[in-house]
Amino acid sequence: MNIILIGPNGSGKGTQGSIIIKKLKLNHIETGAILRKQITDSTVLGMKASQYINKGELVPDEIIIPMVLEALKESKKQGWLLDGFPRSLLQAKKLEIALYNSGMKIDYVIEIQLDRYIAKLRIQGRRICAVNNHHPNHLAYDAIKPIKKENQLYCRVCEGSLIIRADDYNEAGIDKRLDIYYEKEKGTMAAVKYYKDKNNIKLISIDGSLSIREVSKKILNQLQYNT
Ligand code: AMP
Repeated sequence: MNIILIGPNGSGKGTQGSIIIKKLKLNHIETGAILRKQITDSTVLGMKASQYINKGELVPDEIIIPMVLEALKESKKQGWLLDGFPRSLLQAKKLEIALYNSGMKIDYVIEIQLDRYIAKLRIQGRRICAVNNHHPNHLAYDAIKPIKKENQLYCRVCEGSLIIRADDYNEAGIDKRLDIYYEKEKGTMAAVKYYKDKNNIKLISIDGSLSIREVSKKILNQLQYNT
C-alpha cells in the first residue's frame, strides 16, 4: 500500500505517520527529515537545502524531486507512506508522472485538517528527540509532554535530550511555511484539491484538532485497519 500524508506543519503528521507505518509495516519517507539529515551530515545537498529551509521556503524541485523518487523506488516492494511531498500543485503533477513511469500508484491520500492559528501554536511548542525523531514531544499536550528532571526537559519515550528544530526558531519562517500550505491556487491546498478531484485515489480527510489517539483511530478505521 502507498500513502501520501498531507497536513500543515504542526498538524501531527510526524506522530500519525509513525503510528500508521508501524501498523501497516510501510516505509516512512519524510522529506523534511531526509533534508535535515543531509544538513547534519554537511553534504552538498544539505548545504544547498539549508538556505531555503531556514527561511521557511521550499527547496527547489530540482533538488527535492530526484531525492524523493529515489526513496520511493527503494521502498517500492514494501510500500510507503510519504510525508512532506507534494507541497505544491506542480509537485503533485510531477509525482503522478514519475510514479506512473516507475510502475507505482497512490492508494490513499490522508489530509490532516487544522486551523492555521492552532497549527502555529503547535509548531512553537514541539520538541524533537535528538535520539529518535519518531518520539514526539510537545509542551502543550499531556499525552506527549516531555519529562522534567532537575529543571531540564527530556524525551518522554527514551529520556534523550530534546531540541527545537532550527526552522522553528524563526517566526517569519513559520508564517511562510503556513502561507505555502494554505495557498489554494498553486500551494499545498491546491495539491489536496487535485487529489480530491481524482476518482482513482481515496482521499481521507481527518480533523487534526482531535487527540492523537482519536486521529489515529479515525485514520486506521478508514484504511480498514482494525485498531
Ligand atoms: P518539514 O519537516 O516537512 O516541515 O520540512 C522542512 C523543510 O524542508 C520545509 O520547510 C522545506 O524547506 C523543505 N521541504 C520539505 N519537503 C519539501 C518539498 N516537498 N518541497 C520543497 N521543500 C521541502
